[in-house]
Amino acid sequence: MKLLEGKVAIITGATRGIGKGVAEVFAKNGADIAFTYVSSDEKAKAIEENLKSFGVKVKSYKFNVAEYAATEEFIADVASEFGKIDVIVNNAGITRDGLLMRMSEENWDDVMNINLKSVFNVTKCALRTLLKQRFGSIINMSSVVGIEGNGGQSNYAASKAGVIGFTKSIAQEIGSRNIRCNAICPGFIETEMTKDLDPEVIKGWVDDIPMKRSGTPEDVANAALFLASDLSNYVNGQTLNVCGGIQT
Ligand code: NAP
Repeated sequence: MKLLEGKVAIITGATRGIGKGVAEVFAKNGADIAFTYVSSDEKAKAIEENLKSFGVKVKSYKFNVAEYAATEEFIADVASEFGKIDVIVNNAGITRDGLLMRMSEENWDDVMNINLKSVFNVTKCALRTLLKQRFGSIINMSSVVGIEGNGGQSNYAASKAGVIGFTKSIAQEIGSRNIRCNAICPGFIETEMTKDLDPEVIKGWVDDIPMKRSGTPEDVANAALFLASDLSNYVNGQTLNVCGGIQT
């Protein structure tokens, strides 16, 4: 059974890692896909072709999702090209790690703008369409770090805690219109975002995970599939940790 047959899904940051995994699982489950990226042209083209092979409509959009005006244009194009928006996965994100003592203002601002303001941008710009439809599932990619904090990631942790606060507030504001808003908190998922980490640090993290392994983009994508589909019709304002059992 295809869980997203006939649905239209937006996924930000789908050229790599978790977003790419979500796009693949959604396309396999019948969703038409509008995905975004900011620089990876070749990857975007290849992913577009791969997703189309599942028999769904696909369009990629290149812009900085931290910019409000560009996001407004994107949402308007998706609404006219695809006719509706059923699912939004606010996934695009970056890290600019460092101890506060050495953190530049630019590294703070970039992380807040790309990880948190982008979630406001996409949700706000799509709101009118969602309200008119009286249907929608918004899924925001947070992190266990947004719950626990993490030394050396104060900018990232603050942005991801902000995503959780935003998610719970929007769930309260528009739940009565049959629009749901939930967050996923991945633990340690091996993607390009984590590829430059010291192997010793990775080993230490994996040892602390009850399941004794890192997660895969598909592990997160399957949780997103549940939240996107009608299987979660009464799940709203929640954070779903996908982290192999890390205590938060
Ligand atoms: P990733 O592999 O680094 O991929 C990031 C994606 O976001 C890429 O498609 C990138 O596009 C896009 N992107 C970056 N900046 C953008 C911008 N300004 N505008 C539009 N798109 C932009 O990341 P990931 O590891 O899959 O992480 C995905 C999400 O999960 C992030 O929000 C991250 O914080 C969260 N998360 C990840 C982990 C983990 O362990 N990996 C854990 C917890 C939470 P380009 O390819 O064009 O640059």
